[in-house]
Amino acid sequence: MLNKKEIRSLEREFGFRLQKKLGQNFLIDDNIKDKLLNAADFKIDDIVLEIGSGLGQLTADIASSVKKVIAVEYDKKLFSILRSALKDNRNILLVHEDFLKFDLKSFLRDDEKLKIFSNLPYYVSTPIILKLFAHVRYIDCAYLTLQKEVALRLTAKPGSKEYGSLSLYAEYHCMVERLFDISRNSFYPVPKVDSTTVLMKMKEGADDRKIDKNDLFELIRAAFSTRRKTLINSLLAREYKKLSRSELSDILKKVDIPLNSRAETLCLTDFIKIYESIRKR
Ligand code: SAM
Repeated sequence: MLNKKEIRSLEREFGFRLQKKLGQNFLIDDNIKDKLLNAADFKIDDIVLEIGSGLGQLTADIASSVKKVIAVEYDKKLFSILRSALKDNRNILLVHEDFLKFDLKSFLRDDEKLKIFSNLPYYVSTPIILKLFAHVRYIDCAYLTLQKEVALRLTAKPGSKEYGSLSLYAEYHCMVERLFDISRNSFYPVPKVDSTTVLMKMKEGADDRKIDKNDLFELIRAAFSTRRKTLINSLLAREYKKLSRSELSDILKKVDIPLNSRAETLCLTDFIKIYESIRKR
């Protein structure tokens, strides 16, 4: 694995500077690399999509144990370095693209699913996670290294201060497990925050439920728009579906949810019940 000095000398040799705005904090700790690869425990039939391969710190190692790696990197300069470094690896497909625009299913046969692996660029970690959820049917699982604070939000339970719409998005689509924390000093340049690696196991059939996800999550976002207010007051403040106080009270009564509940005390099943009760009106 490249160390700090070697990354600096690549910067000089190829005439580029690591870009903070693209979340370029590279892993420089061999122990953590081993820990990540052991945790992922990839198999020879796996197709792995790596988001943000950077200088390929992990890409070739992953490729040595799987069928195929699709490595997506947005930065043009890094991509050209990556291309020359990995040119002999026949099972690595390099894609120079913004992952948010990448057509994730284009390289898959109908019976195939991806395993995602990424040390995420922090500036865009939530949009990337939401994109993964939008493509849940094409994904088996995801090993993501992200800001500790985002990992806490992803795994938060009702009643905690981190609990919010991201926790509910996660619960809807997958089982999330926090695997281990990583000190900021394992990266170069050193980021401002520590990281956590999470495993998301996507739920089979998450998208087959008879639920309009957009509608459900519109409700959830409206419910969390003002955390200190009761659910009814938050929905009224957002003019959610133009429902009146008495209509909202009736809806909550029908599904046995106390009228003074706040969003942060409700679980996913509660929100689904409220959503269905609104839909049936
Ligand atoms: N995989 C390397 C590692 O672990 O050391 C680099 C990880 S670094 C935190 C994030 C990488 O994502 C950088 O190489 C950055 O250029 C790339 N990146 C940033 N935005 C991206 C995007 N929208 N799509 C794909 N890659 C992106």
